[in-house]
Amino acid sequence: MTAQTPRPGSRSILIAGGGIASLALALALKQAHGPALAATVLDPHAADPGRHRGRAYALAAGGRRMLAQLGLWERVSAAAEPITEMVISDSRVADPVRPAFLTFGREDEDREERAAGGPFAHMVEAEPLAEALMEACRAAGVDIVPAGVVRAVPEGATIRVELTTGARLRGDLLVAADGARSRLREAARIGWVGWSYPQVGIVATIGHARPHGGRAFEHFLPSGPFAILPLRDGGALGHRSSIVWTERADEADVLLSGDADEVLAEIERRFTLNLGRIALEHGPSRHPLAFGIARAFRAERLALLGDAAHVIHPIAGQGLNLGLADAAALAEAVTGALRLGLDPGSPDVLRAYERARRFDSFAMAAATDGLNRLFSNDALPLRLARDLGLGIVDRLPGLKRFFIGEAAASRGSRPRLMRGEAL
Ligand SMILES: Cc1cc2nc3c(=O)[nH]c(=O)nc-3n(C[C@H](O)[C@H](O)[C@H](O)COP(=O)(O)OP(=O)(O)OC[C@H]3O[C@@H](n4cnc5c(N)ncnc54)[C@H](O)[C@@H]3O)c2cc1C
Repeated sequence: MTAQTPRPGSRSILIAGGGIASLALALALKQAHGPALAATVLDPHAADPGRHRGRAYALAAGGRRMLAQLGLWERVSAAAEPITEMVISDSRVADPVRPAFLTFGREDEDREERAAGGPFAHMVEAEPLAEALMEACRAAGVDIVPAGVVRAVPEGATIRVELTTGARLRGDLLVAADGARSRLREAARIGWVGWSYPQVGIVATIGHARPHGGRAFEHFLPSGPFAILPLRDGGALGHRSSIVWTERADEADVLLSGDADEVLAEIERRFTLNLGRIALEHGPSRHPLAFGIARAFRAERLALLGDAAHVIHPIAGQGLNLGLADAAALAEAVTGALRLGLDPGSPDVLRAYERARRFDSFAMAAATDGLNRLFSNDALPLRLARDLGLGIVDRLPGLKRFFIGEAAASRGSRPRLMRGEAL
């Protein structure tokens, strides 16, 4: 079988992995270059946005600006819930009250954001977000192919990929966005520094009787953070939140092995009854947690993107936000080359992308790791500091900015789409 080659004069980008950041990259490029660039997303599960059901993400301001620039925010925001306040407590499961040691709301936002009137983050459900991106990609002419990539071979000025269907394609650049266990990263012999946490992330959608008022809670319990994140109203009890519950892996097996009522009772012990009666609406699903960062974000005609490049602890809900920043930076580097008539898969383009993203990703990965180690612990000087009423955490420089996803990159160094500017 011969490899399908792009039309003469046009350029071609292949994207392995059809996650949210990949679709955003394909859409940004196709909107900017139209027929001059072929964009193909390859993923065996591409045609099934249902695989995202039950997942929700805290989308920081940069991601929101990017979606607005791509013309999607109006649709996505209809199903999103603004987070107006975040309350953080440091307590034990049995504590009857969980006093907040850190609270922040609109006054802690970026001054420009505040002037623009937006909250610092939105909870966005993954399924409608993926659907909106998929539809916009199709309308813009992105090719979405339900097949996996089994092999990628750089051949001079192009890269050839072989698919699970036996088909072959050729492009100027292959983006490996095939997730944390990226086979393409491995095949390209890009090293990986990382480890697994002895914790898992348990995700579920919880219905509750009282409104959340846009408030997000993160309880730092000894086995890890338990986050309650507001979703759009709905469900049998009228109101809904998403929980991301970090638990020791061995404990999680025991806690989740009970029947539905027992699992709900365990959730209730951590959730507390501040929001009235609760019910399980979706899940729970269990996710292994890891830290990892690729030694390079590029190889010959190959760029790593999203979890294929970096995996971080969900303590601050920033993994997808990093992937969107990758997409914005890569779209910018490729666009810069195409506008000058240059090769979008050249080492210069890939170096510019790597420069834009590696430090930011590492800084966020290291910060989430440090925070997890600091809080997922029962014998902390920090706990003592809280008990002595020192308000020390509230004064930790940068902690609030970190939680609102604005810590790693300074505004000026963010990719254009994340600043809300066109490519
Ligand atoms: C418990 C938990 C909570 C989280 N909460 C948040 C949050 O609130 N906010 C946030 O920003 N982030 C959050 N994250 C992180 C976020 O889920 C990930 O960073 C994000 O989903 C990674 O997206 P991705 O597209 O890079 O990878 P994935 O979502 O893993 O997608 C990879 C895709 O590649 C495809 N694929 C695999 N192999 C191939 C192949 N050979 N060829 C073609 N396709 C292939 C797969 O089918 C899959 O669709 C959380 C993570 C966890 C575990």
